[in-house]
Amino acid sequence: MAPHVIRIIGDPVLKQRASDVDRVDGSFVKLVDDMFVTMYDAPGVGLAAPQVGVQKRFFVFDHDDDPGVIINPTIVESRGEAEFVEGCLSVPGLHWEIVRPAEIHVKGYDLEGNELDLELDDFACRVFQHEIDHLDGVLLIEHLTDEQRKEARRALSDLRMRHLAPPEPDIAPGRLRLI
Ligand SMILES: [Zn+2]
Repeated sequence: MAPHVIRIIGDPVLKQRASDVDRVDGSFVKLVDDMFVTMYDAPGVGLAAPQVGVQKRFFVFDHDDDPGVIINPTIVESRGEAEFVEGCLSVPGLHWEIVRPAEIHVKGYDLEGNELDLELDDFACRVFQHEIDHLDGVLLIEHLTDEQRKEARRALSDLRMRHLAPPEPDIAPGRLRLI
């Protein structure tokens, strides 16, 4: 069983801005390890601390078989535009085409305190923007067009009314990687 329960849309912890990590100690490293287990169990390719109820600015990721953690990340520059089908572990069963910048320059720190300085594009760029949104209390719902938003409200109220497990995504298995 995963060490953490992933918080779902409607949980107030997902709408709060997380605060900077100011201390990396043994319990923090344990939390990071537990987040990896929770992410792989989901399964997902990114998981931000607020998604497990921790109001701190970091996330774990493994979108290209190269797992990592980034602490106190900031986007220093973003360029272009790209559309991508995006789904979120905290908004189960739903996904949308969402437009975001196509390339970003991100800075942050690893667990050893080394500075990370990353130029990202393609899926990595999408994962990082999505997770940094989580640290700011922003869910992908807030990036929808008006039309998508109407549809999202209907789908979400359906889920709440039925108290059922969310539907399986209607996309080819393996194509949608949750973040
Ligand atoms: Zn997410």
